[in-house]
Amino acid sequence: CGITGYIGDGDCSAIVAQSLKNLEYRGYDSAGVALLDDSLHIHKQSGQIDDLTVPSMPNATCGIGHTRWSTHGAPTDANAHPHSDCTGQVAVVHNGIIDNYETFKRELIDDHRFTSETDTEVIAHLIEDALGEGLTLRQAVENVVSTLEGSFAIAVTAVGFDGIVAARQDSPLVIGHGENETFLGSDVTAFVEHTQTVTFLEDGDLAHITADGVIIKNGDMAVDRERQTVEWDAD
Ligand code: GLU
Repeated sequence: CGITGYIGDGDCSAIVAQSLKNLEYRGYDSAGVALLDDSLHIHKQSGQIDDLTVPSMPNATCGIGHTRWSTHGAPTDANAHPHSDCTGQVAVVHNGIIDNYETFKRELIDDHRFTSETDTEVIAHLIEDALGEGLTLRQAVENVVSTLEGSFAIAVTAVGFDGIVAARQDSPLVIGHGENETFLGSDVTAFVEHTQTVTFLEDGDLAHITADGVIIKNGDMAVDRERQTVEWDAD
């Protein structure tokens, strides 16, 4: 139901944890985060955000978070996002529904161990296969997203990758621009206490987010989306 992301030199684990609280009002049944330093650390569970322990990780520079409103698979710890691939190197969060996930799951099931009942998990395994063919994470996400049917906003990160790759199709995503830090959210509430300078993604956009900013493609075209300033009253 909600996606968040952060990359930069701030206190990543605290910022991602707070952004989940900020998105709490949207409703959810589970929550989780993936934090990246030299390896990937996933913490996720069903139930209240307040019950989710996100450890302080001073060396983490990149993280993604999720509040889940279950559509495929019960609200269990295993079905909570982020989802990972078999290597444990890739983390995926997803809002929405992948209509053709069963077709992919049938193709993948012989070679990949599934740990959830979600439609989302196929994305992690498809990315794993694309990375195995030598693609970069950005290329892998782009290829995989082009085969997905349904409505989705996704955010992906991986060990050894500088940044977060985000994509949207019929589900909102917005990027927040800070000083040596960049934020991602389903809406600006996720990060608005940090920055009010934002870029709204549009359908078909694929964004490579780093601490310096964002590069956006739509299909084969690089696109320039206007930055906007949102109003925010700290009271
Ligand atoms: N379809 C996904 C699931 O059930 C994502 C649901 C959501 O948007 O939170 O896990």
